[in-house]
Parts: sequence; C-alpha cells; structure tokens
Amino acid sequence: MSMPALMPVYPRCEVRPVRGEGVYLIGEQGERYLDFAAGIAVNCLGHGHPHLTQAIQQQAATLMHVSNLYGSPQGEALAQRIVANSFADTVFFTNSGAEAVECAIKTARRYHFANGNPQRNTLITFNMAFHGRTLGAISATNQAKMRDGFEPLLPGFEYATFNDLEGALALIGDHTAGFLVEPVQGEGGIRVASQEFLQGLRKACDEHGLLLVLDEVQCGYGRTGTLFAHEQYGVRPDIVASAKGIAGGFPLGACLATEDAAKGMVFGTHGSTYGGNPLAMAAGEAVLDVMLEDGFFDNVKAMGDRLRSSLEQMIPNFDHLFEEVRGMGLMLGLKLKSDSRRFVAHCRDNHGLLLVAAGENVVRILPPLVIGEEHVAEAIEKLSDAARVYVPEADD
Ligand SMILES: *Cc1c(COP(=O)(O)O)cnc(C)c1O
Repeated sequence: MSMPALMPVYPRCEVRPVRGEGVYLIGEQGERYLDFAAGIAVNCLGHGHPHLTQAIQQQAATLMHVSNLYGSPQGEALAQRIVANSFADTVFFTNSGAEAVECAIKTARRYHFANGNPQRNTLITFNMAFHGRTLGAISATNQAKMRDGFEPLLPGFEYATFNDLEGALALIGDHTAGFLVEPVQGEGGIRVASQEFLQGLRKACDEHGLLLVLDEVQCGYGRTGTLFAHEQYGVRPDIVASAKGIAGGFPLGACLATEDAAKGMVFGTHGSTYGGNPLAMAAGEAVLDVMLEDGFFDNVKAMGDRLRSSLEQMIPNFDHLFEEVRGMGLMLGLKLKSDSRRFVAHCRDNHGLLLVAAGENVVRILPPLVIGEEHVAEAIEKLSDAARVYVPEADD
C-alpha cells in the first residue's frame, strides 16, 4: 500500500518532536529546537508548564468527561471567568477553532432569524482569511487552495478586501447578517486590521443592525498583548470565536457572545458531545490562572516590542532577503522577498529555530507568551545566522 496510515494531508517535515521543555522542543534523537511556532500560537505557556500540567493531571484523575446532559460546575466556572474578563455575556465551548467559528456563524444567522429577519443570512468575509477547515469555515474564505474540490460549499458568504472599508460597506444589502473578520489575519500573512477598518465595520453594524463577528482564534488569548486583540481597537464585538491558546495545548475552543447576539441560541439549537468537558475546563482555568496574573500581558508587550525592534534592526543587514516586520505583540510576521516556506525549512533544519510560513511570503513568529529576553536574543541570533548563509532560489 502506498497510502500512509496517517492520511497524508500535511507536508510533514523531518522534525519529530517527542518532548517539550519550556520554549524548546526535543526530537527523537535529542535534537533541540527553539520553538517560536508554539504549535501555531497554541502553546502560550510553553511546553510542560507545571501549573497547566498539574491541573490536567489532577482533573484527569478526578473526572474527564461527562455529558452536557448534566450540570457543569466546571463549565459554568470557566464561562463566568471569561465573561468577567471580556465583552461577552455567554460562552459556548467547542473542541477546536473551526467549531468555534461554526458556532459563531450559527449564532449570527440565528440572531436575525429570532428577530424575524431570516433573509439576513449572509456574512461578509475577507480575502486571505482563514477560519478553519470545516465546510462552513472554508465557505467563509475565498482562498481557492482550501476550497477546490469541496463544492458545493455553504451559501451565505460574500468576500470583500481586507482593510478596504469602502469595499466592505458597498456589499451591505437586505440579506447581510454581519461581518466575519480576523483583527489580525494569521494564516493570511500577519495582516493587521487598521483601526479605521475595524471601527468602521463596527459603526456600519450599529447603523444597519448587523453583527460584528471576530475570529480571534489565532490573535486572541494574550497573543497581541491583551486578552483579546479587539481590546486594542476600542471596538466591542457581538460574537468572537476563540481557540488555539485558550487551553495552552489542550483541545478547546469557545464562541463568546453578547446576550443580544446570542438571543437565538436557545435549547436544542446547538451542541457538542465533548465541548466543555471537565478536563478541557481545567486546562482553560489553568491558562487563565497564569494569564490573568499581574505582569503577564506586560511581558507579552515588552517581549513583542523587543522582538520587533530587534527584527527591524536586523533587516537592513539582509535587505536582499527581508522586506518588513508586521504584527502586534507576539504575533509577528517577517515578510520575505522570496518563498517563506523555504526559509522556514532552512531555519528549522540548519539552525534549530521553529517558525511558521504564512501567506504573502511571510514568516510567522509566534513564540510562547512566557518567553524572556534571553529567548528573544537566541531567536535573533539564529535568524541572523540563518540569513547570513541563506541563498534564495533563483526562481523564488
Ligand atoms: C487556526 C485557526 C482556525 C481553525 O482552528 P482549528 O482549531 O484548526 O479548527 C480558525 N481561525 C483562525 C483565525 C485560525 O488561525
């Protein structure tokens, strides 16, 4: 048989991690990597964080899963804590980002249905967006590489240009439910929404009775220096999809909503067998225990500033390779003048530095949020070493 047992949908590299220690990953032969990919913005506390590990171990021994047919003291506690620290009034727990996005889409459609406007079923989304791999989530992006061959896709999405407020507003019609947008696009290439763009979308929502739905699966949970990225825009969303860093590596996602936006999500409208299980809740609590401690976000901001300015200082030394730095907090992108995938492979294979490629030839730099100055220095040293000997391919 030529088909591998593990369905070959990922172009997996040679790194085969078996252990993690803080900001480092260790391979089968003991090779060490500085992990500035963090499971694609997931391992926000690094690997093997004692508080998170202990919380999971204790909860696994106490109670791992019960049905949502029963009361959930664990779910209520974490939901209340998220509500107390965000715009939201209510939370639905999922097991992944795509499921959180699905719940966000359903909540938005159901809001207009509950208001007697079922024709308002179309979300305006944006080019280069990434919302996950379910049929709903791939329908919400116009990136062909994710959609080809999976038709028929879900109707009810229209596509505008990211950061083009006029273009987005021009699509508003009687069928519009709202906007679905990443405040900082991750997979698309660390593209940061402008203040006027997000604020303009909010204003349009208020004027037309639409919902502002944010996908903060990647940019949320401390990544940009605040618990949610939209806090830095002075914009209040109606619905937010969260996941990735939310439980530090344990599978968990969440759909957050205001009371008004969630008005249609009544008994029987949504569900999940695993969603909000006690083990996931324990991991989510442990992440908030650490993240809400004094100084956590200050560290994200300080390390983000430090990393960014170090990258900016490095660029002129290699201006044949690098174009610019973009991003917020510890969600940074280094734009290359050639193929970013090949450079990511070079850093990984020859310099022990893990990064993630993204759209627009951007290298994503997404370290654990608990890094210190020494890790920033080590990353810059590895990146400079890598850049010094790197020869882009002629046809890149
Ligand atoms: C990763 C990601 C998703 C999908 O999350 P999964 O857990 O892989 O389903 C959705 N939206 C954004 C912005 C993401 O970065």
